[in-house]
Amino acid sequence: MSKKKLVMIGNGMAGVRTIEEILKVNGQLYDITIFGKEPYPNYNRIQLSHVLQGDMTIESIVMNDWDWYSDRGIELYTGEAIRTINTTQKLVYSDNRIVSYDELIIATGSSPFILPIPGADKQGVIGFRDIADCLQMMETSKTAKRAVVIGGGLLGLEAAKGLLSLGMEVDVVHLMDYLMEKQLDEVAARMLQMELESHEMKFHMSKEAVEIVGDERVTSIYFRDGSVLPADLVVMATGIVPNVDLAKASGLQVNRGIVINNFMETSLPHVYAVGECAEHLGTLYGLVAPLYEQAQVLAKKLSGESPDPYVGSIVGAQLKISDVDLFSAREIKESPETRTIKVHDEWNGIYKKVILRDQCITGIVLYGDTSDSNRLFGMMMRKEDVSGKTTISFFNERGGVESFQDVSSMPADEVVCGCNGINKGMIVEAVQSRGLTSVEEIGGCTNAGRSCGRCKPLIQNILEHTLGGSFEPADLKPTLCSCTSWSRDEVVAGIREKGLTSVKEVMLVLGWKNEEGCTKCRPALNYYLGMIYPDYQDDRDSRLVNEKLHANIQKDGTYSVIPRMYGGVTTANDLRKIADVADKYQVPLVKLTGGQRIGLFGLKKEELPQVWSDLEMPSGYAYGKTLRTVKTCVGKTFCRFGTQDSMGLGIELEKRFERLDTPHKVKMGVSGCPRNCTEAGIKDIGFVGVDGGWEIYVAGNGGTDLRAGEFLAKVKTEEEALELTGAYLQYYRETALYLERTSKWMERIDLKQVQEHLADPTTCRELNDRLEQTLARYVDPWGQTLEESSLQDHYYSHRNVNVEVTR
Ligand SMILES: Cc1cc2nc3c(=O)[nH]c(=O)nc-3n(C[C@H](O)[C@H](O)[C@H](O)COP(=O)(O)OP(=O)(O)OC[C@H]3O[C@@H](n4cnc5c(N)ncnc54)[C@H](O)[C@@H]3O)c2cc1C
Ligand code: SF4
Repeated sequence: MSKKKLVMIGNGMAGVRTIEEILKVNGQLYDITIFGKEPYPNYNRIQLSHVLQGDMTIESIVMNDWDWYSDRGIELYTGEAIRTINTTQKLVYSDNRIVSYDELIIATGSSPFILPIPGADKQGVIGFRDIADCLQMMETSKTAKRAVVIGGGLLGLEAAKGLLSLGMEVDVVHLMDYLMEKQLDEVAARMLQMELESHEMKFHMSKEAVEIVGDERVTSIYFRDGSVLPADLVVMATGIVPNVDLAKASGLQVNRGIVINNFMETSLPHVYAVGECAEHLGTLYGLVAPLYEQAQVLAKKLSGESPDPYVGSIVGAQLKISDVDLFSAREIKESPETRTIKVHDEWNGIYKKVILRDQCITGIVLYGDTSDSNRLFGMMMRKEDVSGKTTISFFNERGGVESFQDVSSMPADEVVCGCNGINKGMIVEAVQSRGLTSVEEIGGCTNAGRSCGRCKPLIQNILEHTLGGSFEPADLKPTLCSCTSWSRDEVVAGIREKGLTSVKEVMLVLGWKNEEGCTKCRPALNYYLGMIYPDYQDDRDSRLVNEKLHANIQKDGTYSVIPRMYGGVTTANDLRKIADVADKYQVPLVKLTGGQRIGLFGLKKEELPQVWSDLEMPSGYAYGKTLRTVKTCVGKTFCRFGTQDSMGLGIELEKRFERLDTPHKVKMGVSGCPRNCTEAGIKDIGFVGVDGGWEIYVAGNGGTDLRAGEFLAKVKTEEEALELTGAYLQYYRETALYLERTSKWMERIDLKQVQEHLADPTTCRELNDRLEQTLARYVDPWGQTLEESSLQDHYYSHRNVNVEVTR
């Protein structure tokens, strides 16, 4: 039976969580296609604040990398917005294609609300929503000094803190007379303001911006009271507006958001909405916890299960600024119907307030110490009768800040990760039943800690408490990944001893905690199996996405094609073919690479086989963990200084070792004399022609960890050079960790050990024998794809594309 087509518009947090949940129930139900306007895979938007504050990098906040999508057969179009939906014919339209669906999810999120004041469209006026905003702030801070943040809410303060960390002077302008008036009362807000002023943040309260001035770029900002502030950058953090224009134009019922029922169904059949763009019972949510609840209900619905209806959520807010502890939920202001319990410790900067109605908690404001937040929030959610409790037991049942360490008295149903709705019992159960040993593993199994991350210390405490004496800090023994507690050496030994021959078998026999494995362990296992067995049948689906597709995915989701040019030497005929392909496919960029080849950039996945066919050249493996290039100079053939035939040796080396799987990429350079025009001293293996032979340098690196190559040996002939290179490569293959460059490997095992090992002629011969056997198994992957139509269908066709359009 053919699968149904599920299309999702929006590649953000709520949408992708829905897909994750569907795949958990049944990975075979749908052919899934996702369109994302941003040119990135799904990332943790929440952590943009930490990126700006310098605590995290953009790479580290990616939640589902490219491999995640391709491993699950998900068709992902990034940098591609859907412009129109035809709900009658069940089609969605981007600028590049029309795709049909059986079920459609709209998860388009929100955009920053930009104040409609004169000058708001000037350069340097932005919101704070996505990676592009973050990058712009980081870039501007390199040359500009003064930033003004409009809006003293959660987002505005996190942006302001980030801009301070980037070295800018920051003024925060707020319309109300105290900060975060939706989450805090005045006492807590004043305490917060004082704390942030001590971080050098300047505040301007009760001020209304009326105009932004400057030529093309902002230079200052005017306020209703006639005052003015200079500004090189203005960040508007004045709220969000749901992205609903597409839905509105498609005939869906839209109020402020896309109207949904308790099962995320919109007003039209087979169209669902989830996340910040959706409006449920008149409420729009702007925090992930409720959106993830919606995602769970929708996933069950689309998986054919009968979910409990979504009935709305109560949310708690926190601020992600280091040294500032703050939590608030629901009611924050007293009224005649409420009673209040308050603790205000001015000396230690702690303020706690709980609002009660009819013996139950209906509101929480905590400042300075939020260790009670989960417990109080749990009591509020359970509508617990608190009439028997005293103030002290309210706030100090497990003690003050110190009690954070004590999780033994914590009830099993107390929520630990508010964003994902995970309580202590769920974490304990996962640790015990699945043998988990780290916070990351717990996140992988339960989602706890995967969003704002504030609960990670508490999860760590629960983990330690649950494991008791058997707890070992994860970094004492580096494991292959969080799916297993085995190290690389233990896994390799296990494969050899037990005669395991496939990735699946290794995971099964060695007791993987996550039976599917992950994008860290699957490629590693595939490599180790290929290293151990020369005739290993490659498991292509276990490879990283670039290797799986034999092309390099670019940041906009297109691919590059770089054919082999042995030793950087080409011909008029090959150049002509490359030029013809560039014309035929209107390749946006033709670029000489650092490895002396020509790259064609910006090709679509479905074009790749035809491009390879037209090129009639072998793959240059510019995407692989293998020999990339051998850079050569012209050497003695043309150069008057050359003493050796560098092109000849380079071409021979590249032909001999191309396609060989290695733990990481390997680059070589061959220079005809010590002038060393190919920079052979910063290559994994570098050859320098000298009188009477070649000097060989190894473990150099010209990348981020710049490292000069070390002298390995001097050889007299090309044959000797090839022999020693073969032995060296095989020794690296057999002893390095997967994804360990030769430079790091050498630092770990030491040059002397390598030299001694390779000095023995028998060892050298045996290494070369094993290498030769392995090399025999390789074929050119582009040619193979052209010969096998099943490979083309599986990896390069677009199941969901009905019609290609150009507009
Ligand atoms: C800086 C920052 C800090 C935050 N901190 C917290 C926090 O501490 N706690 C918390 O709970 N929440 C926080 N949030 C809010 C949280 O990130 C959002 O609630 C959540 O990301 C919303 O998920 P979503 O999937 O609805 O929307 P999004 O994650 O915004 O995803 C929607 C995606 O759809 C794309 N899209 C829109 N239109 C189209 C189209 N026509 N075609 C294709 N793609 C389209 C958008 O480009 C976007 O990538 C924060 C947000 C920001 C910006
Ligand atoms: S390395 Fe020596 S032989 Fe090669 S191009 Fe430079 S000068 Fe000439």
